[in-house]
Amino acid sequence: MKLYSTNNKDLRVSFQEAVFNSLPADKGLYMPEVIPQLDPAFIRNIEQYSLQDIGFTVAKALIGDDIPADALKAIVHDAINFDAPVKLLDAGMGVLELFHGPSYAFKDFGARFMSRIMGYFSQEGDQLLDVLVATSGDTGGAVALGFLGVEGTRVTILYPKGKVSKVQEEQLTTNGQNIRALEIEGTFDDCQALVKKAFNDETLNDVLRLTSANSINIARLIPQTFYYFWAYAQLKAQGVSEVVFTVPSGNFGNIGAGLLAYKMGLPVKHFVAATNVNDTVPRFLSSGAYSPKPSVQTLANAMDVGDPSNWVRIMDLFGRDLEMVRSLISTYTFNDAETKVGMQELFERYGYVACPHTAIAYLAARQYQEDAPGTYGSVFLSTAHPCKFPDAISKEAFAKVTLPQGAEALAEKEKLATVLPVDYDLFKDYLLQHK
Ligand SMILES: *Cc1c(COP(=O)(O)O)cnc(C)c1O
Repeated sequence: MKLYSTNNKDLRVSFQEAVFNSLPADKGLYMPEVIPQLDPAFIRNIEQYSLQDIGFTVAKALIGDDIPADALKAIVHDAINFDAPVKLLDAGMGVLELFHGPSYAFKDFGARFMSRIMGYFSQEGDQLLDVLVATSGDTGGAVALGFLGVEGTRVTILYPKGKVSKVQEEQLTTNGQNIRALEIEGTFDDCQALVKKAFNDETLNDVLRLTSANSINIARLIPQTFYYFWAYAQLKAQGVSEVVFTVPSGNFGNIGAGLLAYKMGLPVKHFVAATNVNDTVPRFLSSGAYSPKPSVQTLANAMDVGDPSNWVRIMDLFGRDLEMVRSLISTYTFNDAETKVGMQELFERYGYVACPHTAIAYLAARQYQEDAPGTYGSVFLSTAHPCKFPDAISKEAFAKVTLPQGAEALAEKEKLATVLPVDYDLFKDYLLQHK
């Protein structure tokens, strides 16, 4: 697999280089030089395969010879060791549950796969790989649990004190081993600024082998294609031939993976991008002018992104042809009041308790069904388990949430976190003194 930069079509780097660098120096994003086409017979018979079989076939097509088949198969099976079931709410509407991994959010797919790819490329005798990550909640848990026990790696997570939910904090702070949590007395933006400064600090880079677990890493995108194929396989087994996917979107990595799957030959009728009031992409698709704005805080906080970094990847995937993108992707935007109505409707109509991100996807899927009636199967993606968002969900619905396995044990574990003010020198000292 060779990759170019969205800012420089002539650049070529190896998969390994793209994984460790995350971003090209020109600040573009890495994209595969060729989008491989899957064998049509594989798609025709896809319902015969498991999620892991599908994952291996798709990863093999993309990554090629950079990782031998046996090793890649082992990585996929080890990383994706949980299911992603489609549950039917009614005849025309299903929900693809992506929260059955260890951190109860879809980011487990990306984080677990990336950690194992980094572990694979780290040779014995290499310097310890130091992964730095800032989180507003979900990414940190997925990265912590994804890297937990992965040899040759150490993870430092910065999270804003008092601004993540209870379950999120427990997932960040109760691991020990190769995972460290820094509780920063500031905001998510402060955490991110500290991490960015560390990456640009020469003295630090001389001493430590730093890497980022950023969500734009190509190794996080690849495994997110797997569940689109798997959802299609599950629907096909039930006789559904046309599928519309609705994706709750923030940084547009998740829907980007769906579009990559489509480009590789997955039959998808249409995509719907659902956003909260951070509506930069919907505004772009209607006006043709890309004008990012500062993010606004909402109930669906993992989607509070004012300048979605994966959007250029999507434009690149379609040769920057705005009309083509418009014909394939519809967008809908919902505010917090509407999100609450969506959660309530899911609860009352189907007894389904959803997190706010999932409820936004549900509302968009419904709206698209009204705007474009048809016989297709509509699938919306559930990106997180509701137990991660107690404050956003009504008491009545939250009382019906069954905690996933392990959640109660989590609360019993000791919190291990170092509190730091927003002060770069102190952060740097911490890193240097805890080598
Ligand atoms: C990260 C996240 C999203 C947004 O996904 P993107 O790939 O950034 O579009 C949606 N929902 C949840 C629960 C998330 O954690």
